[in-house]
This record gives sequence, C-alpha cells and structure tokens, in this order.
Amino acid sequence: MFNIKEKMERIVGKTNVSDSRLDKLSYSTDASSKSGHPLLIIWPTDREEIKNIIKTALNNKYDLVPRGAGTGLCGGCIPDESIVIDLSRMNHILKINPKKRTVIVEPGVTVNELNNALKKYNLIFPIKPASHKIATIGGMIATNAAGMHAIKYGKTKNWIEEIEIITGEDKTYNTMNIKSFCGSEGIFGIITQATLELTDLPKEHSYFHFKLNTPKELIDKVNEYRYNKNILSIEYIDRITSRLMKQDNRYHLIIEVSDDTGDIREEEEITKIETLREGIGASLGKEKFIIFEDPWIPPKYQEYFLEWLDKMRIPSFGHIGYGIFHPRFRKNHAEKIKKMFILVKKVGGTVSGEHGIGLSKKEYLSEKEKTKIRKLKKRYDPKNIFNRNKIIDMQPRGI
Ligand SMILES: Cc1cc2nc3c(=O)[nH]c(=O)nc-3n(C[C@H](O)[C@H](O)[C@H](O)COP(=O)(O)OP(=O)(O)OC[C@H]3O[C@@H](n4cnc5c(N)ncnc54)[C@H](O)[C@@H]3O)c2cc1C
Repeated sequence: MFNIKEKMERIVGKTNVSDSRLDKLSYSTDASSKSGHPLLIIWPTDREEIKNIIKTALNNKYDLVPRGAGTGLCGGCIPDESIVIDLSRMNHILKINPKKRTVIVEPGVTVNELNNALKKYNLIFPIKPASHKIATIGGMIATNAAGMHAIKYGKTKNWIEEIEIITGEDKTYNTMNIKSFCGSEGIFGIITQATLELTDLPKEHSYFHFKLNTPKELIDKVNEYRYNKNILSIEYIDRITSRLMKQDNRYHLIIEVSDDTGDIREEEEITKIETLREGIGASLGKEKFIIFEDPWIPPKYQEYFLEWLDKMRIPSFGHIGYGIFHPRFRKNHAEKIKKMFILVKKVGGTVSGEHGIGLSKKEYLSEKEKTKIRKLKKRYDPKNIFNRNKIIDMQPRGI
C-alpha cells in the first residue's frame, strides 16, 4: 500500500513533492501574519497532474490549498494539515492574440512577466497590484485583485474572458461565467488556465505630488482630480506613515496621469516618486505595523475615516481614488481592528476592497453572504477539500 506522499509522487514525480522541514516551514505562511501546518507541498506542471492530484485527495480524504506566489494578505494560503499545491511552475504564456487583444495564460504567470511579453505589441494587462513583481494571475483571479490603477481599469474580474477551473467535484469548467469563480479565493477548485483581455499600453505617464495638512485638504484635492479621464492612479500616504518614512508631518497625494500633463515628467523624478510609493510597506514593517487591512470607504465618508484613523494613531495609505484604504496594525492591535470594521460597516463600506476574506475577515461576513457562498461550495466542492474553513466555516470533509 502506498502512503499519500508516494501516491502524489507517482503523479508528479519525486522531485515535485516535498515534506522536508524547510519546505514545510516556508509554506506554513503567506504574506499575512498567520501560519499553519502543511502536510506535503506539490508542484504540478499541467492540468492532467492537477486532475489526478484532486482525484487522489478525494479518494484518500485529504484537503488541498492552492497557492500562487503567497503574497495574499488574509491567510488564504494557510494550510491546516493540508496538501499545498504550488502553481508557480505552471507559468507559460500560451497564446497572445494582438488582433483580438487577448492572451491565454497558465495560472503561475506573474503580472510583470506577462506585461514584459506584451510590450512589443504595445499592449498590457492593466491590473497592477503593488505586489505585481511576484503576484500570479491565478492568485489575482482568485482574489479579484485591484491595485494602483483600479480607478481607471477596475478589478481583475473586468479583464477576464474565460477561466478553466477544476473543482472539488472533479469536474473541469471552461467558463465565461466568471462571477462564481473570480474572487472565490480557491475554495471551489484550482484555476488552471485563463483568457485575459488586454488594452493599449499608455504611451506616456507623469505624476503630481501634493503635500497637504489635513484630511479635508486631501479629500478636496482628490475630488478635484477623481473624475478626470487621464487619471491612472490616486494614492495617498497619511502623516503618521510619512513621519515613519522620515518624510514630513503631512499627507502626501500622488496622482499618476496617462499623458505628460503632470508636474513630474523626467525619468529621474518619476523613479524617485515611485520609489517613495514602493517603500511604504517596508517602512511600516520595520516599525512592526505588519497587519495590512483593505477596507473600501464610500467617498462621502473618506474624510471622516481619515480623521478617525489619525485620532486612533493608525498609520495608513492606499488607493484613495478608488476608495481602498490600507490601515496598518501591530500584532497586539486586535481591538483597534475590530473598532475599525464596526466603523467601516456603519458608514456603508466593505471590509475588503481587494485582498479578500481568507481566514482573517470571516467574522465580518453577513449571514446573507455566508449563505450564498455555502450554496456554491456545496455545488462545486461538496466534499470540502479546497481551502477548508477559508471565508466560511464548514464541517470537515463530506458535508
Ligand atoms: C506588498 C504587497 C502589496 C499588495 N498590494 C496589493 C494591491 O495593490 N492590490 C491587491 O489587490 N492586492 C495586493 N496585495 C495582495 C496580493 O498580492 C494579491 O491578493 C494577489 O492577487 C495574490 O496573488 P498570489 O499569486 O500571491 O496569490 P496567493 O497569495 O498565493 O493566493 C491568494 C488566494 O488565491 C488562491 N489561489 C492562488 N492561486 C490559485 C489558483 N490557481 N486557483 C485557485 N485559487 C488560487 C489561494 O488559495 C489564496 O486563497 C499585496 C500584497 C503584498 C504583500
């Protein structure tokens, strides 16, 4: 009789399965501050292997955690004595169709790799999370990622033509019905391929950089630009973060436009402003602000929300043009996080604008949302083998 490791080795080969201590440690966590225990890590290279892995897991009652680059911020990849399926070796760009402006990709392709390959056609896949150098297309579809250019291009869902997914009922769907799967955080199955839509690569870009004293001044400035056609991104840094970054005690507003009308146009100056924006996470991490939330706040309450964060001494930054805020917390700030989400709900916001629910935000889902997800889970993963207890709590296997 073969044990589960041997069975998986027969599917993907010995070198593509590991239960070494080092691998188990690496795959015990993602970019959230949560951790768990993987049983095995598997690196499949095609859909047939994935089908066989799912069949074997179903027959032997093991549960599976799909994983892209592990940059998720809500614990979506945390295993609980589970088998982790790392999709990063399924990283081929299968077909670029410049006429139709579409591309077919495997799930492990990163946004940067894809956009580098598209450059010669003057095309881009326009969704750009701040993690774009490593986040995978599979992970972005699973979380319905947004990012810096959401104000112009929306979220991942808006740019998918078709998804191929193998579910927990051991069925393959090639579907344009992306509603059920985009943003489902790997709880129904594994995305094995996707057809993405593309757009023109902006020919130019330039920036404005404003330094402001109060939330009111900041929001007034955001409103001045919010509806302009040439806006690519409107990002802010609050004054607590600015101080931690060894800048001044002011709010910073960084506005990117898709032409040369911005004040910052020279390559050297553009690099400087982009470096400032990219350095936020590291500066906050150094000060132990490692928990990264992402509420969406309606425009009417954005000024009030900024004032509240400042009063509570919570550093923040984010895609303010699209309404997504990134307040950061230390590990012992559970009470502050709870208070913030109460406020978010009170002002008609949503607890997650882009990162998803995973393990960290389950308690804030409404009964209506839970019932809807439970219904889909019963349909697509009736034995509950995928991402068990993420988003909603379900009984162990075979609900
Ligand atoms: C510094 C930093 C900045 C970030 N900035 C942004 C931002 O601007 N906007 C934004 O939206 N997010 C942002 N994120 C969060 C994160 O990068 C995104 O959620 C991203 O889409 C996750 O991609 P990934 O490949 O790392 O997925 P992972 O973290 O590996 O997985 C995320 C979820 O997707 C599931 N999953 C992964 N691949 C598949 C697959 N092939 N099939 C089925 N399920 C799958 C996993 O099970 C998990 O639930 C940021 C993260 C970091 C660390």
